[in-house]
Amino acid sequence: MYLYSPSDFTFHGTSPARSDFILDGLRILREQLKQKNIPLAIVTAEERGAKMQKVIEFVKEHDISHIYANMEYEVDELRRDIGVAKQVLEEKTLAFDVLHDQTVVVPGTLTTGSGGPHKVFTPYSKAWLTETKRDPGLLDTVPPPEANDDSAVSNLRKLFDSKIPDLPDSKQFDSAEAQDRIRRLWPAGNAAGMKRLADFLHNKVSDYAAHRSEPARDPSSRLSAYFSSGTISVRQVLQQTKKANGGKHFDAGDAGISAWVREIIFREFYRQVTVTTPHTAMNLPQNLKFDFVEWEDDVEGWEKWCEGKTGVPFIDAGMRQINTEAYMHNRLRMNTASYLRANLLIDYRKGERYFAEHLIDWDLSNNTQGWEPSYTVFNPVVQAEKCDKHGDYIRQWVPELRGLKGKAIFAPHDRLSKEEFEKLGYPYPHVNYSESAQRAKQRYKRDLADA
Ligand code: FAD
Repeated sequence: MYLYSPSDFTFHGTSPARSDFILDGLRILREQLKQKNIPLAIVTAEERGAKMQKVIEFVKEHDISHIYANMEYEVDELRRDIGVAKQVLEEKTLAFDVLHDQTVVVPGTLTTGSGGPHKVFTPYSKAWLTETKRDPGLLDTVPPPEANDDSAVSNLRKLFDSKIPDLPDSKQFDSAEAQDRIRRLWPAGNAAGMKRLADFLHNKVSDYAAHRSEPARDPSSRLSAYFSSGTISVRQVLQQTKKANGGKHFDAGDAGISAWVREIIFREFYRQVTVTTPHTAMNLPQNLKFDFVEWEDDVEGWEKWCEGKTGVPFIDAGMRQINTEAYMHNRLRMNTASYLRANLLIDYRKGERYFAEHLIDWDLSNNTQGWEPSYTVFNPVVQAEKCDKHGDYIRQWVPELRGLKGKAIFAPHDRLSKEEFEKLGYPYPHVNYSESAQRAKQRYKRDLADA
């Protein structure tokens, strides 16, 4: 049973790309299960608040004796499941098991010497590697279900007719062309995800350690949409990765594999952070002092950031990628986030929401941790010179600058004559980098001191 709530999509600002990817994935899953004579029921709760009741009604209607559910760690979702558990357990005949499918190591269980959960990534990562080496069974998956006899599903017949809901009106794509483009980039379903994994392990992972921060190479797996929607299992992924590593553990063997698994460990760590600091799932920064920052209301800066017209080529390239592909390379996510919350000094939560509304891979833990405010301010010109040495990523996404040679492409306003620059039809920078970085540091210092 899949519990579907269109108002959840609205509440979280889920993008059309992600909404469509989830619904299409369900369509594929329903067909696969049908082959085994297993119905997939789609239970729709129009309102978020009705979800608990819908589950209970479903349980009663179909005389269910045992519920298995996958755990979700965000506050509202935990409340929902605790609510269901409380009500259904009152019926003494019913069993309720919650499984941890999102991570290999259950969030909150890796603790420091003094017994508290790890709060710092490097020691967490070491502990994760030790634990998965000590207990390789952590990578075991539940075997796929056996096919049902007709008699076993005779009372569930009508569930086979459960329709996959259409994309809600509020989640329609801007055009049919946009939907086609996104579907071609991100084919839904587990088989598509596993194929993408196999291609990545075969062709790209060995270069990952050396080149992962060079967006022009498109160096990463692009599996995030599959992970965040639950379309692939991290256990399946790590089993295949271990095989590709000749059976060695993830801290040995291919350096690319170790570097890549480090990112998977980040994903597990961020779920631990959500569990141990639940306010991060409630629109608050992990470091609560940042909630006291007085943000700027720069309407023009905001619009320029959204459209990729800030006048800073690396930032604009990143924003145009997300607007076109519903995806952005990690290095660009770091830079565009820093630019918004520091150089424009706009409340980082607006950016967090924009990412949710546009990414196909939106994931609460990864997104909120990625946006966590700090004193770090990236210099997007230096970053581009380092990570996009030849300017190819900028050229791909900012056609106005395609004809530029040499280092002018990283800061055309500074490095070309006024006349040459104005011919490009590319905007002047909305803010001066050094002054705006300085302003942000002073503002943070002032407001955090008062907090
Ligand atoms: P790969 O490099 O191939 O990594 C493999 C997997 O590891 C990813 O699919 C992802 O599940 C995980 N992973 C990789 N990098 C990170 C990371 N830095 N933190 C946590 N997990 C990681 N990731 C999301 O999945 N959803 C988000 O909404 C999201 N928002 C972000 C916002 C900001 C501001 C930042 C800085 C990062 C964000 N990330 C998010 C993390 C990261 O950018 C993406 O996971 C990654 O770019 C996805 O591409 P990939 O699948 O090719 O990654």
